[in-house]
Amino acid sequence: PKTLRFILGDQLNHKHSWFNGDQEHIIYHMAEMRQETDYVKHHIQKVCAFFLAMRGFNEWMNDRGWETVYYELDHKDNEQDLEKNIKNLIKEHDIEKFEYLAPDEWRLDKQLKDICDSLDIEWEGYDTEHFYTKRKDVEKFFEGKKRMTMEYFYRDMRKKHDILIEGDKEPEGGDWNYDKSNRQKWEHDTEIPHEKGFRKDVSDIVKLLEDEGVKTFGRIDEKNFNWPVTRSDALDVLNYFCENLLVHFGDYQDAMHTEEEYLYHSRLSFTMNSKLLSPKEVIEKVIEAYRDSKDIEISQVEGFVRQILGWREFMRGIYWKEMPDYQSKNELDNKNDLPDFYWTGETKMKCLSESINNSLDNAYAHHIQRLMITGNYALLTMTEPSYVDEWYLGVYIDAVEWVEITNVRGMSQFADGGIIATKPYVSSGSYINKMSNYCKNCEYSVSKKGGEDGACPFNSLYWNFLDEKKSHFENNQRMNMIMSNLKKMDSDKLKAHKKRAQDVIENPQNY
Ligand code: FAD
Ligand code: SF4
Repeated sequence: PKTLRFILGDQLNHKHSWFNGDQEHIIYHMAEMRQETDYVKHHIQKVCAFFLAMRGFNEWMNDRGWETVYYELDHKDNEQDLEKNIKNLIKEHDIEKFEYLAPDEWRLDKQLKDICDSLDIEWEGYDTEHFYTKRKDVEKFFEGKKRMTMEYFYRDMRKKHDILIEGDKEPEGGDWNYDKSNRQKWEHDTEIPHEKGFRKDVSDIVKLLEDEGVKTFGRIDEKNFNWPVTRSDALDVLNYFCENLLVHFGDYQDAMHTEEEYLYHSRLSFTMNSKLLSPKEVIEKVIEAYRDSKDIEISQVEGFVRQILGWREFMRGIYWKEMPDYQSKNELDNKNDLPDFYWTGETKMKCLSESINNSLDNAYAHHIQRLMITGNYALLTMTEPSYVDEWYLGVYIDAVEWVEITNVRGMSQFADGGIIATKPYVSSGSYINKMSNYCKNCEYSVSKKGGEDGACPFNSLYWNFLDEKKSHFENNQRMNMIMSNLKKMDSDKLKAHKKRAQDVIENPQNY
């Protein structure tokens, strides 16, 4: 009897138990499909990364002598649709059982279930064996609680998995959270070692996409593609991070700088989201590096572990608790368009041009650029969250829906009304100035705090946003202080801010 096993592009887990047993009578199937290249317009580097990683994974299986059917985008039998491809293969190879790995995306989960329901052969779904938690663990953890606070979930995970725990369930170093020591601006204080990069030639994939008419955006240096797309690349990046960057990861986690696109960030998100690396092995390796080194402090390591053991698992749990309703949430009733400059990088506002051009050049921006620059601006200009989602889901190399939508609609746009964040992440120019050198290099003046010409647009947008949305924040205790500052503001000053903000929102091309 023959079994067909289907693997999605973000399920490249070499360590899966599927690969331990007897491989006779098994056919593995993967496919590059238009249904996946076209559900949103993607950055060209994102499509290249997924295709390369999938092809590499297929090669790895072939090298072991296992039978695979791999459809490149222009393969003659590729129907570009999951259901058609699977049903054709079942017929062609006399398949008696169909097996798949549970998708992390709601859309694909539903599609696969529907396909299975319509099959007249046996089928079975398997866990991807990637995450620490199961889909519903976060929901169960917070059952009966009023709020889902990430910090409590994270502490429980630390204890449950005995990660950075001392004695009887106490946090190593004495604190659960070292966030406060993780807020430094970077001003050439340390030398940031740069990786030599992979420099892959991806021109054949770029040509394939062009020939097939796949619409993409963003920039690519096709002879020097620099993302890790195989397991061995991924392990190299992980080792590099541990040896060179971990030592200052926490210190400069929130910093931004015109000359440094990555600072001390790991660039591991694609390798984990495609499952080339598991969160467990990343955390174990990082802790091992910490134990072996005299220079790495607990605050750096804890900051990193929290992102993966805490935030990453938490976001996935919220996704499976809240979908599919989550994808249409718009609690603040925002309706504006996303400015064109998100797609071109052409704006005089230095913070935005840096963050957007990084994104277009590299399919990457680090967390604070995503949250406090592009996300902040989209929220302050009251952009319809679907347009914001569309941009984020397309532009980043690591953008898969379960982690994109929870970060964008939830954490960044507050469109879920506070399921993830307790208050909106909005700020005026002063926060941006505190954490970066952007303002020093900008045409606008961050210190001009009125609505006058030449003043930083974020300042007016900030007060305008609070005023426009004040009814939503009346009962939010964490907003009390700021809302009372708004109340105290001189009415002419507020009027000037609102006039300027209106102009920024209506005429983004002028800014
Ligand atoms: P590092 O700073 O080195 O962090 C290490 C790892 O921690 C990351 O690789 C990631 O796996 C995990 N991590 C850190 N923050 C988060 C978070 N908030 N949620 C989940 N995991 C986290 N991450 C994605 O993987 N895909 C997305 O589509 C995505 N969209 C985002 C959109 C917005 C508006 C914001 C604010 C954040 C988004 N993030 C997303 C989270 C985070 O910004 C990226 O994971 C990170 O920038 C990836 O770069 P890195 O690997 O160098 O991360
Ligand atoms: Fe951004 Fe304002 Fe600073 Fe310019 S002055 S970089 S617009 S925050």
